[in-house]
Amino acid sequence: MVRKRIYEIAKELGTSSKDLIARLEELGMPGLKAANSVDDDEHALITHLYQENEAVSPAAPKEPPEEKSETTDQESRPAVKRASTAGEPRPPIVSVLGHIDHGKTTLLDAIRKSRVVDQEAGGITQGIAAYQAELRGQKITFIDTPGHKAFTGMRARGAQATDVAVLVVAADDGVMAQTVEAIEHIRAAGIPMVVAINKIDKANANVDKVLSDLAQHGLTPEAWGGDTITVELSALQNQNIDDLLEMLLLVGEMSDLRADPKAPLEAIVIESHLSASRGPVSTVVVKNGTLREKDWIIAGSTYGRIKALSDGMGHRVETVLPGNAAEVLGLNEVPNVGEQVEIVRDKSTAKKAADSKRQDAEKPRSVRRPMTLEEMLQESEEEVTTLQVILRAASSGALEAARRELEGLTVKGVELSILLAGVGSVSESDVLLASTVGEDALIVGFGVKTDAKGKKLAETEGVPVFSYDIIYDLVDEIEKALKRRLAPEFIEVKLGSAEVRDLFKVPAGVVAGCYVLEGKVSRRGRVRVVRGDAEVYVGEIASLRRFEDDVREVQADRECGIRIKDFDGVEVGDRLDVFELEEVIA
Ligand code: GDP
Repeated sequence: MVRKRIYEIAKELGTSSKDLIARLEELGMPGLKAANSVDDDEHALITHLYQENEAVSPAAPKEPPEEKSETTDQESRPAVKRASTAGEPRPPIVSVLGHIDHGKTTLLDAIRKSRVVDQEAGGITQGIAAYQAELRGQKITFIDTPGHKAFTGMRARGAQATDVAVLVVAADDGVMAQTVEAIEHIRAAGIPMVVAINKIDKANANVDKVLSDLAQHGLTPEAWGGDTITVELSALQNQNIDDLLEMLLLVGEMSDLRADPKAPLEAIVIESHLSASRGPVSTVVVKNGTLREKDWIIAGSTYGRIKALSDGMGHRVETVLPGNAAEVLGLNEVPNVGEQVEIVRDKSTAKKAADSKRQDAEKPRSVRRPMTLEEMLQESEEEVTTLQVILRAASSGALEAARRELEGLTVKGVELSILLAGVGSVSESDVLLASTVGEDALIVGFGVKTDAKGKKLAETEGVPVFSYDIIYDLVDEIEKALKRRLAPEFIEVKLGSAEVRDLFKVPAGVVAGCYVLEGKVSRRGRVRVVRGDAEVYVGEIASLRRFEDDVREVQADRECGIRIKDFDGVEVGDRLDVFELEEVIA
């Protein structure tokens, strides 16, 4: 007996899996998935049902053929989106994740060597961070940086470069620690995945164990009646790679990925570096719209005019369409990975937009210590705030206990949503994940430590990490903090203000020659730069001098030199308000 997959039957019938599934659902066969396989009898039944239904299609007799199919579409397949309303289908953009040594790199290499669109260069790409594979004329774009750190790094600024993830699990090893992390990261990204069960050529390969490991982590394989698509393959021996591509196309099709080359640009930096000969180089993946040579673009606080675009084969191209990636030359600096690329009208708009993004990026960082819960909650007093919690505990029992308690907390106006819960210490990748969510994410450690890299990143990203050893403390403290959310923990105490009357360049930056208008300026204070009515910057004072001497304070009606930490944009006429943050004891 030959088992056939639904997508294969759809192909035989000259339709898409999506259409076939929608049609079968109407005909009383709900719940089928494109990757489901059926036996000969079911195959015959599906073919019969589908064809019979086509033949008696109510719109068939009088209408001209094109309209017939359209009318049929509208009347009988309401669930299927119409192409004309949402652009054209575009290639899926795929990332590869999984445990170390399970074969991510080998898989990406195998696909690149045998399936790239353009074989002219002997299948060797020019080292850009993405390439395109092709199966029966349909394209798939692979992001060539494997691993969940890269994956989440690409999301760190809120953009989502990837449409579908491949989770590689070695059949001789099963689901391991980083596999679990990868699953968590893919789930947090909310994108579909295909599991590549790799190394099936090995004598000790145990596919069943992998399937059962997956099921234990909530990924019930479709062979066992679940939703998780799995493909058994060997990256090393180039075996069943086409099946994987087939599934990726299928998942892409099911996700209804569409784009319009005329739409505003939606593009994301997936890799960037500084080349000695070519300057800042970045690889950008386009999800919607079109990127063109000579466009003025911004990517975060960097900007420039595109000098050259080249595809994965190193060929110069003039345009990059949706679902494609290209290397971009022409930005003035190296942009951060995950930054969104925008097209702007001209140089001055580009410069202005990039400058303001730079200041936005610097402003919170310079004042931002990790926020307290109260501060997180204060931001939106009126609405319901959902806090995304990453929870780590020492054992699975402790984890479940903490999860239950946190989920049981009810405080008006606040919802806690557990984004990720896992056993083990708080790691760099947890912090990275929290930073992709933004200011409404926090990490709670129960009886676990934060590792050194995690601590460092939490400090630079301003991600709050709360650690408790006793469950009552955890619950009490978090509940108390949620309840007290209107009481700020810090208040500003004004010390004085000064007017900028002159500017001096020094090796460390710019010193503002000031006249203290009222109160005093203190070396330990924070400073707010006010221009007209607008706040330009908030940060710390790096140095305070009176004549040649470093001083701690300067009183009203005196002159002084103030250098602001990490900010040289001060101008003559600006007002510097100096204040201290004072903790309020609740
Ligand atoms: P990564 O750390 O996930 O990128 O793993 P690599 O691609 O570097 O592979 C780790 C090791 O597994 C290498 O020695 C590969 O040759 C080997 N490997 C990868 N895929 C296969 C496979 O399908 N079969 C076998 N036997 N070995 C494989």
